[in-house]
Amino acid sequence: MPEVPALPGLAGLTAQVFRAGGALSQALPDYEPRAGQAEMAARVADVFENGGVLLAEAGTGTGKTLAYLVPAILSRQRVLISTGTKNLQEQIYFKDIPTLRAALDVPFTATYMKGRANYVCLHRIDLLSEGNSPQSHDVFLPIIRDWSKTTDTGDRAELEDLPEDLPFWSEVAATAEACIGNDCPRYSECFVTRMRQRAAESDVVIVNHHLLCADAAVRQNAFGEVIPACAYAVVDEAHQLEDVATQYFGFSISTYRIEDYARDVERFIASGSVTTRSAQMELQQGVDRLRDHARSFFTEVAFAHRSNDRVRGEERVRATDQSLAHTREVAAYMAGSLDLLEGGLALLAPSRSPDDEPSAPSDVVALSRRAGEIRDELRFLLRAGDPAYVYFVEFRGKSVFLRASPIDVSEIVRDLLLDRVRGTVLTSATLTVDGAFDYVKGRLGIGQAEEVRLASEFDYESQALLYLPPRMPDPRSPEFALAAGHQVIELLKRSQGRAFVLFTSYASLRSVQAIVEMALEYPMLVQGTAPRSQLLKQFRETPNSVLFATSSFWQGVDVVGEALSCVIVDKLPFASPSDPVTSARIEAIRARGGEPFDEYQVPLAILTLQQGLGRLIRHRRDRGVLAVLDPRMRTKGYGRRFIASVPPAPVVHNLDAVERFFSIV
Ligand code: SF4
Repeated sequence: MPEVPALPGLAGLTAQVFRAGGALSQALPDYEPRAGQAEMAARVADVFENGGVLLAEAGTGTGKTLAYLVPAILSRQRVLISTGTKNLQEQIYFKDIPTLRAALDVPFTATYMKGRANYVCLHRIDLLSEGNSPQSHDVFLPIIRDWSKTTDTGDRAELEDLPEDLPFWSEVAATAEACIGNDCPRYSECFVTRMRQRAAESDVVIVNHHLLCADAAVRQNAFGEVIPACAYAVVDEAHQLEDVATQYFGFSISTYRIEDYARDVERFIASGSVTTRSAQMELQQGVDRLRDHARSFFTEVAFAHRSNDRVRGEERVRATDQSLAHTREVAAYMAGSLDLLEGGLALLAPSRSPDDEPSAPSDVVALSRRAGEIRDELRFLLRAGDPAYVYFVEFRGKSVFLRASPIDVSEIVRDLLLDRVRGTVLTSATLTVDGAFDYVKGRLGIGQAEEVRLASEFDYESQALLYLPPRMPDPRSPEFALAAGHQVIELLKRSQGRAFVLFTSYASLRSVQAIVEMALEYPMLVQGTAPRSQLLKQFRETPNSVLFATSSFWQGVDVVGEALSCVIVDKLPFASPSDPVTSARIEAIRARGGEPFDEYQVPLAILTLQQGLGRLIRHRRDRGVLAVLDPRMRTKGYGRRFIASVPPAPVVHNLDAVERFFSIV
């Protein structure tokens, strides 16, 4: 019998796409086969064929998105892709997916899903339009209503002129909390329903970690969930997953949430659905009482937890059984008013046997349910007694949040993500510490996993320099800011601006910025003075500009080319031990006999530093200087762990070497 050639498996098909002369080199004029990319694609293909978990650290320039998208598409299975940032999500959907659609001879569909709050809720628009509440007269209502009749997606990003932080948007957003699900008269036209249906029919579903975690957190709630079941998942920028999971798998009551609820009840009253005058008055009195009690409650909470060093209106303070003691009495009043509202609204709900269709819109049922949920969460938060959670009060602008966050998310990530799919790929440019994946495996509850590390495609030996100043004061001393300011001035003179100066706190940013501004005239951009995207655009377009920024610019920011030629970091980015979540994690490690500094604080800071320094070289032609001004990098034993983890650029200690580097064109 003639020998039948073996059909190429997924790994074989994938390899053909990446080889010289393959589909990618035919479709992309600049394509060059890269060994690291092909290896990663082969390892991902293996997961899609055989299941399991793969941890893949892919250094900058590897081309990791195509390395997982190609086998994902060729696998003919539904694959969920989750990214840490919106930028990467957009790059995949608007750039990589069209590229692969043209390059691969394989028909496939892809859906880009944002968080529910990005979409307009048609039912809330109807209620506002029919009602007579103050929000019904908002100037933005007619604009949003008219657009909602013509848009295909319902995504607010289409309304480019809408202010980013428009408070009115929260009145019309399709949030899970305000949604009434199947009972909604607009259910079949609803943009979220349609997005969910599109995703359920798609081969590739692209989400971000925020939606991934929010969705998993409301999975018990039949109409909150929007992400369809997928056989496989790729978690890109996986180093961010722990943080995002911590935000979504907790509980929170805030001034904002109570006010949002109060306004929804008022809108329901104003919609005319409550027919008797006495019922209307009773409900309105209930809302007024809730507002009064909430005001007293949050005033008490703020009084008991406010400290003196609030920076930029943001602060998180640990809450305990004792610190919450004085708030319990007034919280009981608030819980009482929620009880009354829950009961009063339930009485108005249409009676309904299991076979009946509801005889009236079930907003009232949803509002009654929400009152009960808020009350139950309030009681849970005030007990502050579950050792799996850390309780804290967060001040943000004028809002006050009482929160409980899980101290350890590893089980949650395992149960709600890893165990729900056949295979998972977790990838990032920064996943290892000291050359091993142990840290990230421990934090994310990953047991058995395949591992692969792919070095950066960039030649740091020739493309970059790491400058560590020879003498600097202790970073905790008052002299540090002046010395750091001096170093920044000297570096910027040599790089001619074109730099990110990244800080670990606003206080340091302000001190150093003040010193530098007096000495140099380069255009200076400062985080917080404009939205992030606008600052980045200005930075790219303004020659010789300098950007002063803190945490949100340490990752997910891409500036290719000469505009960014220097990245300066003031201090090693240790998470503040006064932060409630960090301190609770430190205590938990100590309680089990571990060494929190070595096991948690140093690895976390190493990953953050790697991300910050990774902003510099984004292309093979990029050149530039990395500078870390913190002397602990050289003087402390753990400094060696940092040096071993940063990009392998030549290390220099004098500014002449920096000058020579920039003088080579
Ligand atoms: S289903 Fe929910 S989100 Fe969609 S229109 Fe109705 S209430 Fe709004």
